[in-house]
Amino acid sequence: MANENTGRLLIISGPSGCGKNTVYDALALRDKEIGQTVSATTRKPRDGERDGVDYYFITEEDFLNKINNNEFVEHVHYATNYYGTLRSEIDRVLKLYKKVAMVIEVNGALNIKKMYPEAVSVFLMPPSKEVLVERINCRGTMDADELARRMKTAEEEMQKSCEYDYVVVNDVLENAVEEIYNILNL
Ligand code: ADP
Ligand code: 5GP
Repeated sequence: MANENTGRLLIISGPSGCGKNTVYDALALRDKEIGQTVSATTRKPRDGERDGVDYYFITEEDFLNKINNNEFVEHVHYATNYYGTLRSEIDRVLKLYKKVAMVIEVNGALNIKKMYPEAVSVFLMPPSKEVLVERINCRGTMDADELARRMKTAEEEMQKSCEYDYVVVNDVLENAVEEIYNILNL
């Protein structure tokens, strides 16, 4: 990615289920200059998820090949699956939009921030752990072990919130969106 474009990079991160995608979708309705990278993952699609829209759903073999070919700007192994942002995605979105948003988990976000210090990083904080459990459960696609794993990861992730440029609490959706919109348009 060219240097002159890095100021237009927004990283939205936080624990799985805190509302990152919901907040991003609402932000994109408000700010027509923003587009989102589509990540690649080895996770199976949830009901309603579409290949090429929500994720590029690929096999582990394919994912590992792409790592070897240096096709990812960042990638992580999270819970039991691989997730990563393809270099080609950032270029694709930059051709279409002035601002590029990446909605990713914490380790990937902090790596991207190191590579592109001018990027604006936002940690989206759930109002409480109880609300986070409710939000994860309301997607209704996770067994108890997976939920416990994600909650443990969530606690570790929340401890890293101080490494972000901004922490935004996602309690009332409209307020969180407004806050991020204002941050981006400072
Ligand atoms: P993430 O992208 O962080 O994994 P999602 O955007 O999928 O999280 O949100 C998880 C669940 O929480 C969804 O059911 C979503 O509708 C709900 N949710 C997100 N933000 C809010 C909010 N501010 N108030 C109430 N429910 C929310
Ligand atoms: P989920 O399985 O709930 O869709 O995603 C699990 C976590 O991986 C979420 O926090 C999500 O934001 C994150 N994630 C999705 N795509 C990427 C990516 O390309 N890179 C990184 N580092 N995390 C991602």
